Amino acid sequence: MHEFGIADGLLKVAIETAERSNASRVEQVNLKIGALAGVVDEALIFAFGALSEDTLARNARLVIEAIPVTCYCETCATVFEPPRFSYRCPTCQTLSRSVKTGRELQLVSIEVS
Ligand SMILES: [Zn+2]
Repeated sequence: MHEFGIADGLLKVAIETAERSNASRVEQVNLKIGALAGVVDEALIFAFGALSEDTLARNARLVIEAIPVTCYCETCATVFEPPRFSYRCPTCQTLSRSVKTGRELQLVSIEVS
């Protein structure tokens, strides 16, 4: 379960952020996770909860914005959301080889108090 590795990284950044701003606790961690990032939200939330016990980030909320997969068509420059693993452009039917979004695993912001 690689979510533990990701949660560990997030936790370190969250605690550093809280310490740097002399905060007493981490309230919330905001993330963007793409549909192709291979991260299971529930597993990440569970891992973060388990690892953050006895830290400034105990009981912090993990807010995950899910980013859908979008493709770019090189033929007609359409950006589209492919229906379930068919990466064909709905406008000109060319098969896209360019996944534009969906792979993100991005820490957006950390809220401390
Ligand atoms: Zn096209």
